[in-house]
Amino acid sequence: MAEPVLGNPQNTIEVLKKYNFTFQKKYGQNFLIDTHVLDKIIRVAGIRKEDFVLEIGPGIGTMTQYLAQAAGKVAAVEIDKALIPILEDTLSEYNNVKIIQADVLKLDIQKMLEEERWERPFKVVANLPYYITTPIIMGLFEMHVPIESITVMVQKEVAERMQAGPGTKDYGALSLAVQYYARPYIAANVPPNCFMPRPKVGSAVICLRRHEEPPVRVEDEALMFRIIRASFNQRRKTLANGLNNAPDLDIPKEVIIESIRKIGKEAGVRGETLTLEEFAELSNYICKQM
Ligand code: SAM
Repeated sequence: MAEPVLGNPQNTIEVLKKYNFTFQKKYGQNFLIDTHVLDKIIRVAGIRKEDFVLEIGPGIGTMTQYLAQAAGKVAAVEIDKALIPILEDTLSEYNNVKIIQADVLKLDIQKMLEEERWERPFKVVANLPYYITTPIIMGLFEMHVPIESITVMVQKEVAERMQAGPGTKDYGALSLAVQYYARPYIAANVPPNCFMPRPKVGSAVICLRRHEEPPVRVEDEALMFRIIRASFNQRRKTLANGLNNAPDLDIPKEVIIESIRKIGKEAGVRGETLTLEEFAELSNYICKQM
């Protein structure tokens, strides 16, 4: 199988020139041009020959070449039609890559796996378009497809929010949602000069290893996530006020106060101090009384 060549910036420039490619800001196009970072992502994701990898946003196919070398099969989903002929060229020597032109947010991943006759868990690896990081990651988890892990390049701040714990400034609804589904681990910080063009923000590689079983028992997942969002919507308010003022929650005030007391907290507690276990317990009490 061919050696990956696109990690070298000179080769990336040549491909871009050959196809007269213009970067589309609206698609969050920042292509990787650092072989060490590419090697690190493959290592962190633990890609092996028996793996099926879904790559989101292959760009000109730089990371796809590395993935194709390491994995058994790669499905690369790219929204930008202008990149498809380029991908067909740069990946022509790899017979284990399927290029799919689609918006990943609208792709039926279960159907794609069935078409590829893949029945086991799969891995997601991507240098994500930063403008839709959260909908992509939450969409993947909520779709309930058999994901083993998600290893992605994201904005550094977003990686820190995913990994944050209670009582810290980065802790929020994203931390709790990610940690309900997976164990996050920031594997590397990546500076802007590893990309072309350079992004305005720092980046980080984060690996989300999916829990086999959710770490907490929840009666009504949707209710728990509405409670979590309401608790963080009004950061400086108490948890009771946050829940009481939430437009998409209709919980009687006395039920809120009684449930907060039942989980052993004071009436004036703030949402950002609660752990995932406490949010689960709180939502289970509220659920029982509704
Ligand atoms: N993987 C390449 C690399 O590392 O050099 C490119 C990464 S670039 C940060 C993000 C890629 O995602 C771009 O190729 C962009 O066109 C693509 N993209 C943006 N929105 C998308 C979407 N909704 N569905 C699929 N691909 C998308």
